[in-house]
Amino acid sequence: MILQFKSGTSEEILLKVEQKLATEGIRSVRSSETHRPILAAVDSVSPTLLQEIFDTTDELERIVTPEGPWKQVDRSFREGPTIVEIGDLKIGEGQPCAIIGGPCSVEGRAPVLEVANEVQAAGAHMLRGGAFKPRTSPYAFQGYGVEGLRQLKDAGEAVGLPVVSEIMDASHLPAFLDVDIDCLQIGARNMQNFTLLKAVGKAGIPVLLKRGLSATVKEWLLAAEYLMAGGCEQIMLCERGIRTFETATRNTLDLTVLPLLRQWTHLPIVVDPAHAAGIANIIPTLARASVAAGADGITVEVHLDPKRARSDGPQALSPGDLKRIVAEARIISALF
Ligand code: PEP
Ligand code: MN
Repeated sequence: MILQFKSGTSEEILLKVEQKLATEGIRSVRSSETHRPILAAVDSVSPTLLQEIFDTTDELERIVTPEGPWKQVDRSFREGPTIVEIGDLKIGEGQPCAIIGGPCSVEGRAPVLEVANEVQAAGAHMLRGGAFKPRTSPYAFQGYGVEGLRQLKDAGEAVGLPVVSEIMDASHLPAFLDVDIDCLQIGARNMQNFTLLKAVGKAGIPVLLKRGLSATVKEWLLAAEYLMAGGCEQIMLCERGIRTFETATRNTLDLTVLPLLRQWTHLPIVVDPAHAAGIANIIPTLARASVAAGADGITVEVHLDPKRARSDGPQALSPGDLKRIVAEARIISALF
């Protein structure tokens, strides 16, 4: 249950409502919204108690019941959309569509710098690259770990782009903080790694939260709720395709959820058409469709020699493809 108060409601009134809930054993949490006080009751509130609070609190303007069991990620927990800020880059509803590009894996200092230059020249806004790789086979390239993180960050700094990289394990967090990675990616395979979500939630760094391979929107939003419950407000949801019966593509890009998420949550929505499709030449079309469906950002993989890529070569785009995606996203998002 989300309680929206009139703007200017005093601290005294808020404390009274919080205490009333607390005496009934109901935990509540305040929104950081500054336009008006907003409170989420974390535990369920009986209709009688709710009516009593409403009848005795003139300042309580509206009570909203979220569509699902989440609280803080609900649209009503904020007045407007959440805008994730990474350096000068702003990602969220109403902002220009942000394009993230880079290799699937960081493949060494020189290669990542080379691709970073191309990503920057193509007009993209953030550099991606995996240093800790969640590979299906234990024999596949696992990434260069901390060394790869440093190479990615150095490449980002050299070309003036913030960097995002996947964190697979809570114990790696100090290394990500030490290297000063600008945004932590939680991958599809770790969307419900609750230990990781709790640790990352407290890290104070923006998070790109990918949808699990077979996660429902409810499970995905509750994973984001874990991050918010830990204190993280700078969260982007990333649709990256889900498992279906279809085998012609790697996954099935579920754009259906975009307008729904827009109604249900204040969080920015990013789309990764690369891991959804798995086939490079259909990705630009899916990127266009994603922007048209309301994506606040697009993330794709770029490689200068896809045949030699250490991972995900078949879905790697050229810098030219990336440049076109940047240009088309600008045109399409200007229509809304
Ligand atoms: C990736 O972005 O490289 C990746 C592994 O993505 P996902 O978790 O969506 O499979
Ligand atoms: Mn990949």
